[in-house]
Amino acid sequence: MTSVATWEDVLVGDELAYLTTEPAREARTAPFPDDLQPAVGEALARRGIHELYTHQAAAYAAAGEGGNVIVTTGTASGKTLAFNLPVLDALGADRHTRALYLYPTKALAQDQARSLGGLGVAGVRAAIYDGDTPTERRRQIRGWANLVLTNPDMLHIGVLPRHDLWGDFLHNLRFVVVDEAHVYRGVFGSHVANVLRRLRRLARIYGAEPQFLLASATIANAGELARALTGEEATVVEDDAAPRAERTVALWNPPLLDAELGLRASALGEASRLLAGLVGRGLRTICFAKSRKSAELIHRFASDRLDSATAARLAPYRAGYTPQQRREVERRLVEGELLGVTSTDALELGIDIGDLDCAISVGFPGTIASLRQQWGRAGRRGHGLAMLIASEDALDQYFMREPQALLDRQVEAAILDHANPRVLDGHVAAAAFEAPVDDGDAATLGPEALERAPLVPELRHTQRGWVWAGKDAPAARVPLRSTSPDAFLVVDASSGDVLGLAERERAYSTVHEGAVYLHLGRQYLVRELDLQARRALVEPFDGDWYTQAKKETQTAIEEPLRVERRLGLELSFGRVSVTEQVVAYQKKAAADGSTLDTVPLDLPPTTFDTEAVWFVPRPHQLEGLEAMPLLLSSLHAAEHSLIALLPLWAMCDRWDIGGLSTNLHNDTGAPTVFVYDGHAGGVGIAARGFDQFEGWVADTAELLAGCPCERGCPSCVQSPKCGNLNEFLDKSGALTLLTRMSNAG
Ligand SMILES: [Zn+2]
Ligand SMILES: [Zn+2]
Repeated sequence: MTSVATWEDVLVGDELAYLTTEPAREARTAPFPDDLQPAVGEALARRGIHELYTHQAAAYAAAGEGGNVIVTTGTASGKTLAFNLPVLDALGADRHTRALYLYPTKALAQDQARSLGGLGVAGVRAAIYDGDTPTERRRQIRGWANLVLTNPDMLHIGVLPRHDLWGDFLHNLRFVVVDEAHVYRGVFGSHVANVLRRLRRLARIYGAEPQFLLASATIANAGELARALTGEEATVVEDDAAPRAERTVALWNPPLLDAELGLRASALGEASRLLAGLVGRGLRTICFAKSRKSAELIHRFASDRLDSATAARLAPYRAGYTPQQRREVERRLVEGELLGVTSTDALELGIDIGDLDCAISVGFPGTIASLRQQWGRAGRRGHGLAMLIASEDALDQYFMREPQALLDRQVEAAILDHANPRVLDGHVAAAAFEAPVDDGDAATLGPEALERAPLVPELRHTQRGWVWAGKDAPAARVPLRSTSPDAFLVVDASSGDVLGLAERERAYSTVHEGAVYLHLGRQYLVRELDLQARRALVEPFDGDWYTQAKKETQTAIEEPLRVERRLGLELSFGRVSVTEQVVAYQKKAAADGSTLDTVPLDLPPTTFDTEAVWFVPRPHQLEGLEAMPLLLSSLHAAEHSLIALLPLWAMCDRWDIGGLSTNLHNDTGAPTVFVYDGHAGGVGIAARGFDQFEGWVADTAELLAGCPCERGCPSCVQSPKCGNLNEFLDKSGALTLLTRMSNAG
């Protein structure tokens, strides 16, 4: 294997925060199992596959015992074959057997359908059934296909409510494949967990008990995720036996321009310099940015640094490319016509664009699983280079100082809560529409569903159980990516396209009039927020400012559920109600975050129930910090930095988390810090914070102690979503408090 490590002279300078090499690893293989259908073995042999990795053999064996399986091995480790083998085997053995494959996006389903077709196993009749499938094809697919690929939305509103059309399919349903299972977390995951429970129930009604085969990126809690998603236990297969080439990992921190303010050089500028440097040395490189605009800027700046012949071998790659366009980019990369590609995170999900030498992630993509997937594109042929260029965000800067936290620890867990009533109620209604719900359904839908049934309007109790008394199909009212049925539609006024949904709780702070709204990496300006029609009209926006809402927040403790003595204080987890009122917004310059304008807003307050973790520091932990406003500023800074690091423990975005700190809270009568789930009802984020409190606080203290700024900066205590616009923040007071807490543990 040739090693082309000619990047050494690029990786020099103080910006190099950490450099390591992950060694190459030999494959561990096993022969084809004896009981594998000959047709499957022959199809694999035609593709040059003559043996399995041991984790594929383990998954096959576990599936053969009849239970559920979750495979959680690295990028490009052959997870697909691990779940395809038992399925193809079963389809070949009995022509009546059926399998259902779920993908989070249409593009991924198309890729999988193509690769299944490429295998050419006799007897496998695969078809995609999604929103794009023409009506006249649908009936044919239901009758003919024995392997149907779809997405959770289609299953939710198109398949389950019309199960009478799928009776034969459900009766013969043997396998349900859930690929990219880690994507099903948070609100989306909580909904999908209910969709899968409804599927299990209907399959049982038609006489089938399908096995679930899940595949996930590496996460801390694969078994727990499988159980949360399906309601059943699963065997975890995690011993990755795929070969790996040697890989150099570099963490890169843009130079500090102003130590006092914590101001750093732009990550985009560094990215374009590195991209140009690597491509100029003939290395095939992909660069991931968090927004389309950033990807375009990196592309432009890198081109400017290169001669025109080399610059012509760079290309941007966008979300929304057709399969043909994607294959064209892939072909040009494989043939060496293209050397560098800049992309938004849209590429991250398992879509194969070939083998590259280097992968650069510009800004931490939010989860270690995502970062590993981006890096997984580097060095599939030989020695590869994987890089993270830090943004000024607190988590990015924390990783630059504590690389082991990024590279060694398995702390991120994919969490969800299918029993959140705000999520569950719609599915109880949908289930009752599909078939009367009675006590026996607790086994599949979960006991919580039966507890909620009497509380769901439009359900009526009859001798057959709870039945739907409404007129329409309730599933259509339940969006899978929101916890509120009265979410606002975000509509592009220039095209009429619906871009997405904003939950009411968040609509006022994210799509108020004048807000800059980011969707799939593109910027839009909100023209109008219609409170009656629940609609935000937006238009594409190319300006160089962003907006930050100023809001007043109050919390009321509704019910403490768990109270424990932890870190020398009383730590609580429970239900709270949060009332927010957005009162103004600021326009801020993209270049340096300076305030351009403050605009008042007149919006009503909103209240929602959610879950929170909160604590009341003991007097000795606050000693010397008691004076106002130091007390408030210390608590506020502690709250911000805690929120910044919680995504390290619970796989979520800081935008999914809210917080409130006060020197005197009505319900506790004392200084209190709240960190709450930003989604109505809660999806498990605050609960995870409660469970992991000691580690979470210790990491946060370390973050504050290590930040080189003097008095607080965007990399430690400032938050891009602070409702108080980052006023009243005291870094050293927060560090004192968190250190005292940590020492008390
Ligand atoms: Zn700082
Ligand atoms: Zn704040």
